[in-house]
Amino acid sequence: MQSLYELYKIGNGPSSSHTMGPKRAIETFLTQYPHTTKLKVILYGSLALTGKGHLTDYIIKQAVGNIETEIIFDTEKNCPIHPNTMQIIGYNNDTQLDDWTVYSIGGGTIKIDGKEYSDIPRIYSLKKFEDIKLYCKNNNLQLHEYVFQVEGLKLKDYLKKVWIAMQQSVEKGLNTTGKLPGRLRLSRCAQNMFNTVVENEDDSLKQTRLLSSYAVAVNEENASGGQIVTAPTCGSSGVLPSVLYYYNHDKKVSEETIINALAVAGLIGNIVKTNASISGAECGCQAEIGTACSMAAAASAYILKLDIDRIGNAAEIAMEHHLGLTCDPIYGYVQIPCIERNAVAAIRAVDASKIAMLSPKNRSISFDVVVETMYETGKDLQSHYRETSEGGLAKKYCRNKYYNKEMTE
Ligand code: SF4
Repeated sequence: MQSLYELYKIGNGPSSSHTMGPKRAIETFLTQYPHTTKLKVILYGSLALTGKGHLTDYIIKQAVGNIETEIIFDTEKNCPIHPNTMQIIGYNNDTQLDDWTVYSIGGGTIKIDGKEYSDIPRIYSLKKFEDIKLYCKNNNLQLHEYVFQVEGLKLKDYLKKVWIAMQQSVEKGLNTTGKLPGRLRLSRCAQNMFNTVVENEDDSLKQTRLLSSYAVAVNEENASGGQIVTAPTCGSSGVLPSVLYYYNHDKKVSEETIINALAVAGLIGNIVKTNASISGAECGCQAEIGTACSMAAAASAYILKLDIDRIGNAAEIAMEHHLGLTCDPIYGYVQIPCIERNAVAAIRAVDASKIAMLSPKNRSISFDVVVETMYETGKDLQSHYRETSEGGLAKKYCRNKYYNKEMTE
């Protein structure tokens, strides 16, 4: 498994695989070929089908600077290796420099076909939760201590930066009103949600109001191209910050505990990323929101002082009940269903950790098994339901849009 530096990326939305990944691919190409004068970039699969809504072309134009660039959306070609495939052909005047096929595999991480590309080494020798759990038990370590043992204590400084960026995204989202960009013309609603205190609000409703408004705040920032942290992706970037912000700001949990919880959550996200996928284009929304929910559930379980077994159970419960969740963003924007889905997953994450607290320690399904199941289920999903905007809500909304004039252009 790679470092948590690679999982948690501080950057701009709206999509890690459609913006951060392609941007990184272009920058890597230009670093290798600094004398590039012309580029041809061809987007395939989900990058072609939802690239416009996800601002892929916009980010590529930003990344190339003044270099003459042709961007082609090829929606026909099959992508047998990965649905987020792009081709970069670079020239120096009329001489072709190279022709790369790049896969944007989720969370802003890329793989270049035929090249051993990685600027972040694989530093974890263990990659299954059960193996890590056994190692921790044998060495009397908690999960966050294991992370810092592998990565070194310097990681704490980076996680502090991640935590600052997460809080900023919540606060900026709560303090901003107006319309989100794009054809849906949705109004931001985080601030209104936060301020909607009904008469006789009990603790349960208050928790729902706070978790929802924090998650929506982050994802409205994401939808606007604002700064967020991939946790594990841009589209699912509101779940973990919402839960951590709630514990820190409303429940007065210390910053030190929050940093340790970020390490625990990162380990869970890394296990999914390594053994399965965190890409909506590859495995549907279960891979994005399901993983984010597992990460936040594990963080919540750690904060609630549950032991390693129950932290794993919380992560498992969170993923198990997202199995089969499809990815069907309307018009390719990371807005409907994405924004509200983060709020639902934040609430579910806290609930999953409480279910783990209340239920027997020994479960029939382990976290490793549910991760494998998610991956297999994702591979079985028709491409309509994997970030192509050709099925589900995306299809129904487009058919019915004339009955819904308020929301359309
Ligand atoms: S539906 Fe889920 S996986 Fe698809 S773009 Fe939205 S958040 Fe990402």
